[in-house]
Amino acid sequence: MPSIEETSDLIAPPPEHCPGPEGEQAGKADACAGCPNQAICASAPKGPDPDIPLITARLSNIKHKILILSGKGGVGKSTFTSMLAWGFALNEETQVGVMDVDICGPSIPKMMGVEDEAIHVSASGMSPVYVADNLCTMSIQYMLPSKDDAVIWRGPKKNGMIKRFLKDVEWGELDYLLVDTPPGTSDEHLSVNSLLKESGIDGAVIITTPQEVALLDVRKEINFCKKAGIKVLGLVENMAGFVCPSCEGSSEVFMATTGGGEALAKEMGVEFLGRVPLDPRIGVACDYGESFFDAYPDSPSIKSLKKVVEKVKMQVGEEGDLEEES
Ligand code: SF4
Repeated sequence: MPSIEETSDLIAPPPEHCPGPEGEQAGKADACAGCPNQAICASAPKGPDPDIPLITARLSNIKHKILILSGKGGVGKSTFTSMLAWGFALNEETQVGVMDVDICGPSIPKMMGVEDEAIHVSASGMSPVYVADNLCTMSIQYMLPSKDDAVIWRGPKKNGMIKRFLKDVEWGELDYLLVDTPPGTSDEHLSVNSLLKESGIDGAVIITTPQEVALLDVRKEINFCKKAGIKVLGLVENMAGFVCPSCEGSSEVFMATTGGGEALAKEMGVEFLGRVPLDPRIGVACDYGESFFDAYPDSPSIKSLKKVVEKVKMQVGEEGDLEEES
C-alpha cells in the first residue's frame, strides 16, 4: 500500500513542526491546527510503514550498509564516497553498491563516469547502473531528463523517492552498500534511518576537514547519530594537507587550529579512521569518472585511502584484504 507521502495526497507542504503525516499524532497534534492537510492526515492509515517489510526483504542480500555523512558541505563527502567504493571494489570478489540520496545535488554519477546513463525498469524493479563488474550505483540523476535539471522537492516527495530507491532497486547480492547523503541532518537522513532500521545499518562514516568551522558541525552530526541510534564507525579527516603532484611534498591547506579530526574523535569517543591529503589529481579523476586507485596508484592519498578502507572493514567486522604499502 503506497504511503500518504508517496502518493503526495497532501495538498500543502507539511509545516515546520509537523509530527509526520503518517504518525499516530497526524492531524491531531497542536502543530496540525490550521494546517490545510489536517483532514487528510487525520483519516490516513496509521501504524508502522507497510513498505518497511518490503524494503527489508529487498535488501536482505546486502551484507553491510554504511551511511556516509558530513556536518558541512564542501568537505569532499561524495568524492570520498566514490573513493571508498573504488577502494572496496579493488577486490574483484567484493560486490559494492553506491546509493546517492543527495536528491537535490546528486554527484555520484558524474564522479563515477556514468552520468549519461539511464536506468532500466523491469517488472522486478529498477536495475542499478554498473561502473565496473563489481561496482554499481543508483542516483536520481539517472531519472532526470537533463543533467542540468534542478530537483526542487520538499520533504515528502524526497522521502518518497528514497523509499523507491530502497524498495524497488534490484541491488542483488552486495557486500557493501554505501549511502551518500546530503550534508547536515535533514529529511533524507531521517528517512534512510527509519526505513533501514529493520534491515540493519552497520553505521556511519563521518567526513570532515581539519578546520574548526567544519569540526563544529561534525559534533552535531555525531550527536545526531547518537540520538538516532546510528553507530558511528569513525571519523575521516579529508583534505588533510596538500600533496604536490610533481614533488609529492605536502603542505597544510586547512590549518587544524583545534587539533583537527583526530582530537575531535578522541573528545567524542569515536574511532579516528585516518587523514586523507588533498591531491588535485583526485578532482581530475572524479571529473573523468576514473578510479583514482587505478589512475594514480602512487599518490600518497591512495596510501591513506587504503588504510581508511581497511579500518572501515574492520569496524564492520570484516578482515582487510588490500596489500599493505611498504
Ligand atoms: S496535518 Fe498533517 S501535514 Fe499538517 S502538521 Fe499535521 S501531520 Fe503534518
